[in-house]
Amino acid sequence: MEQNNANEIINCLIIGSGPAGYTAAIYASRANLKPVLYQGIQPGGQLTITTEVENYPGYPDGIQGPEMMIHFEKQAARMGADLRYGTATNVDFSARPLKVQIDDDKWLQAHSVIISTGASAKWLGIESEQRLNGYGVSACAVCDGFFFRNKEVAIVGAGDTACEEALYLSKICSHVHMLVRRDEMRASKVMQDRVKNTSNITVYWSTEVEEVIGENKVDAVKIFNRRDHTSKEIPVSALFIAIGHQPNSEIFKGWLDMDEAGYLKTIPGTSKTNVEGVFAAGDVQDKIYRQAVTAAGSGCMAALDAERYLGEKGHH
Ligand code: NDP
Repeated sequence: MEQNNANEIINCLIIGSGPAGYTAAIYASRANLKPVLYQGIQPGGQLTITTEVENYPGYPDGIQGPEMMIHFEKQAARMGADLRYGTATNVDFSARPLKVQIDDDKWLQAHSVIISTGASAKWLGIESEQRLNGYGVSACAVCDGFFFRNKEVAIVGAGDTACEEALYLSKICSHVHMLVRRDEMRASKVMQDRVKNTSNITVYWSTEVEEVIGENKVDAVKIFNRRDHTSKEIPVSALFIAIGHQPNSEIFKGWLDMDEAGYLKTIPGTSKTNVEGVFAAGDVQDKIYRQAVTAAGSGCMAALDAERYLGEKGHH
């Protein structure tokens, strides 16, 4: 399906392939906008690293996240969306047509752009975390917990995600050490209570990760207690990072309005950004709801906004 025509001007270019991007592609295809969707580094997005999704309407028995994203992709393809491998690496919104670079290589031209690049896991930013990433340091308990069954593991974070992942790990691993940097958790009370009532989870309050210890695998995590200023090591086989997410908006800096955390700003009630013809949908512009269904809904909004915009500009 790939078209390598250098003069090609894409009518509706969609960047990103989570629920927002695919829904935008479904709507844009049905409106005959001939959308081209670039799937990005992780086709299917964050749902491809989750297990059961029970809260997406229309699946009364629940569905596995990766399978659901295959359904989204198939539906977009069936409607005629041109789905392509590749990641947007740069943009130039200074003139018309809009320009988007793919894989640090070719520049594409587009009359409208829908940004649905999602969000990615945050990291602590310490050297040993990076060095042992993939060797026992992971940002996805659901993906990697299985490798550490019947072992002791640690998890850092205190939000709903950290609680959910700690509970998940407690069913696989022999013991879960949960490292919380303050003396309280941000997570909802119900999640906190579940964690506190799980006998093989130990919560360490006011605790920071100083270092992950190990060469080609994790042997221990060195922690620092902020109250009594002491350090100690806990022998574990893995460290899971569950400290939130950041929007994938880096390449739009300087072009699009964003908040201090990097979430793209849209005109309330619409998907419109500050650049005419550029729309945003899904987690890259939503730090509040962050659900598959809200992302899909905003992808629909973006396609409808793009359709109206293209019609007004005579690009239909
Ligand atoms: P959150 O932003 O809610 O929480 C991030 C947590 O990580 C906070 O406790 C924060 O600590 C901690 N943290 C951040 N940086 C560091 C660091 N450098 N070192 C140690 N700890 C750190 O992210 P979540 O991913 O947990 O949740 C995102 C959203 O999704 C929330 O709205 C949440 O409610 C929702 N959600 C709901 C679920 C459910 O209802 N079942 C499941 C999962 C998510 P501090 O509190 O000190 O800032």
